[in-house]
Amino acid sequence: MKYYSTRDKSKITFDSAQVIKKGLAEDGGLFVPESMPEISKEEILALCEKNYPERAAYVLSKFLTDYSQEELLKDCEAAYCEGSFPGGAAPLKKVTDKLFSLELWHGPTAAFKDMALQIMPRLLSRALIKTGENNTALILVATSGDTGKAALEGYKDIERIKIMVFYPVDGVSKVQKLQMATQTGNNVQVCAIKGNFDDAQNGVKNIFSDAKAKDNLLKHSYILSSANSINWGRLAPQIVYYISAYCDLIKAGEITYGETVNVCVPTGNFGNIFAAYIAKMMGLPLNKLICASNANNVLTEFLQTGTYDRNRQFHVTMSPSMDILISSNLERLLYFSSSASETADYMADLKTTGKYTVSGAIKEKIDKNFVGYFASEEETANTLKKFYDEHHYLADTHTSVALSCAEKYMNEVNDGKKIIVASTASPYKFAADVYHAISRKDASADTGALDDLSALTGTEITLPLRNLAQRPIRFEQIIEADEMLNEVYKFM
Ligand SMILES: *Cc1c(COP(=O)(O)O)cnc(C)c1O
Repeated sequence: MKYYSTRDKSKITFDSAQVIKKGLAEDGGLFVPESMPEISKEEILALCEKNYPERAAYVLSKFLTDYSQEELLKDCEAAYCEGSFPGGAAPLKKVTDKLFSLELWHGPTAAFKDMALQIMPRLLSRALIKTGENNTALILVATSGDTGKAALEGYKDIERIKIMVFYPVDGVSKVQKLQMATQTGNNVQVCAIKGNFDDAQNGVKNIFSDAKAKDNLLKHSYILSSANSINWGRLAPQIVYYISAYCDLIKAGEITYGETVNVCVPTGNFGNIFAAYIAKMMGLPLNKLICASNANNVLTEFLQTGTYDRNRQFHVTMSPSMDILISSNLERLLYFSSSASETADYMADLKTTGKYTVSGAIKEKIDKNFVGYFASEEETANTLKKFYDEHHYLADTHTSVALSCAEKYMNEVNDGKKIIVASTASPYKFAADVYHAISRKDASADTGALDDLSALTGTEITLPLRNLAQRPIRFEQIIEADEMLNEVYKFM
């Protein structure tokens, strides 16, 4: 399987190991596979009998063809082991007759980013060897909270790799901030920046496209690599759990093979939902992909009107990992709905004017697979409380956005199909807002919210979040967005 850039008309190809190492294409585009491997009924029925690491290795082997089956199985077994994901990697919980919660947050940092970031460092480590790389890989990450911590956990103390994380100083939850500030490992650096997530992401993108910086780094034996969801090594492992969830629905007797189900995903950078689209393109019987947004509803508007317009007010919400106005992975959807040259044109428009409008033909193609809804802050809180009170299901704020949108879809479309809702974080990761939504009272103190939520609901604090406040703070630095490159040099 070869890959090329979403913006490259001449289609220069790369192997999967190269693509995982590079992260972003040189022309600024994102890597996409040259063709879509298929997954048949027989294969899915066979996967029903396998455990999660086996399912993951099988699906990944279709995309990462320069990795051997043995390598992939070994890495998947290590990544999704019982020690990292107690009780299994992606359990599917029945919430109502129609709604199923695909819980993707049972890993080391209590958010779904672990699903990719526990395996990706292992894939990168092999990629360095496979491509004959002698330099140290420096991972730069812009994060709205969850990616940063998950990447730090995945990459810490991995040889020949260093990792540096930038986050918007007021754009992450208190728990997220503490998680990052107390990160261990001797190859890690964490910086808060004055600005929002897009400022952090643009800062990282600018460093990646800065030829002089690249030379400078190389002189000191460093190459840049990314762990953001624009990296194919992040995206590929996310395809697995949609296939796995479909298998689990069959195993539970909820569906028989062929019955289509909807998938609803709380969306920010459009990575998670795009992975569901890939699963669908492979032949998994999925119906609609419901793109759930919060008050930053740029994607809802895009899916409704065909116009993507980032020139709008930025809202800080209780689902901060979705507070994003430039959803980078959308570029991959444009590519699969049009061509490299059209994609390059739209991205150029986005860069210069902050917006673009897709052609009628592209919109029609997207409409066949996607539908967009958003939930206001009030709807998110009300939905959270409703699912707790009526269905005894404790969701985090991001998952609640998706639950709210799934309900809107059911009311509006009423297709009677089952819906898999991607549950992306532990409720304890956003404990203060979850506590407030249920009790309508403020929690006692920043990290005390964890204890308050536990006392209120009689549930246990998710393991990796216990005793956070007792851990030593290592990173407290706050910098201007235009100082990011300097910080990289300092760290190097
Ligand atoms: C990252 C994240 C999202 C958004 O996922 P994308 O792949 O960026 O669309 C949603 N919820 C949580 C909790 C996240 O950490």
